[in-house]
Amino acid sequence: MTIEVKSHAELLLMRRAGLVVADGLAEMCEAAAPGVTTAEIDAVGREVLARHDAASSFLGYGEVWGNPFPAVACISVNDELVHGIPGDRVLVDGDVVSIDFGAVVEGWHGDAARTVIVGTEDPADRALIDATMQAMWAGVRAVRAGGRVGDVSRAIEESVKAQPVRYGSLREYTGHGIGSEMHMEPDVPNWYRLRPTPKLGVGMAIAIEPMLTRGLNQTLELDDGWTVVSRDRSRGAHWENTVAVTDRGLWVLTEPDGGAGMLGDLFGPLAE
Ligand code: MG
Repeated sequence: MTIEVKSHAELLLMRRAGLVVADGLAEMCEAAAPGVTTAEIDAVGREVLARHDAASSFLGYGEVWGNPFPAVACISVNDELVHGIPGDRVLVDGDVVSIDFGAVVEGWHGDAARTVIVGTEDPADRALIDATMQAMWAGVRAVRAGGRVGDVSRAIEESVKAQPVRYGSLREYTGHGIGSEMHMEPDVPNWYRLRPTPKLGVGMAIAIEPMLTRGLNQTLELDDGWTVVSRDRSRGAHWENTVAVTDRGLWVLTEPDGGAGMLGDLFGPLAE
């Protein structure tokens, strides 16, 4: 397995892509409200990409196997867990909405996801989202030069298991290396297996993305060839960031502050 190593200049381009992703997610989350369709939220993402002169990582993805993704964001509602296709679905009060968004700047990708509740919050949905976000940050904090992908997987799994509520954690879908393509080696599973995993080093970047449900972790793919739902119809949440390993520490490319607020001494951005 070869993991792409980025130069300083390439990581700066990935940071630009990451900031476009952060911008787009902020605006799309803001747009998610009762009465709004998921296609309208996707249109907000398209506007952000156009404003920054960035391309979409998602639009047309899958063309090689004959099912190109038709939108710039995956928008998944309630028991839809990931890869939901934006369309004429109208959001209603209390919906749990996961938005996954990617951008390309000069050939370099950023990828991140957020989950929001539209209108009135069910406290159990809020707890699910918080648990998913916490698991993602636990994974990010486990990244280090000389460490292994398995450290990240274990940190995510332990974070989920430490919750007072038992959640399903998806196994068929994983985080991934990212850079000159959106999905690259290595896979970054959200669960730990006692087996060798790739070593991480300076210049590498991975997308860390736990996907949790309020029920079990079994999934189904719908006939559209994209939308992944929970078999037990339980609601899900998805939180993702793109993280780079620099010679100074960690840089969360898809967070506006680069991760400064969450990483403490681990935070190590490159000079822009
Ligand atoms: Mg991803």
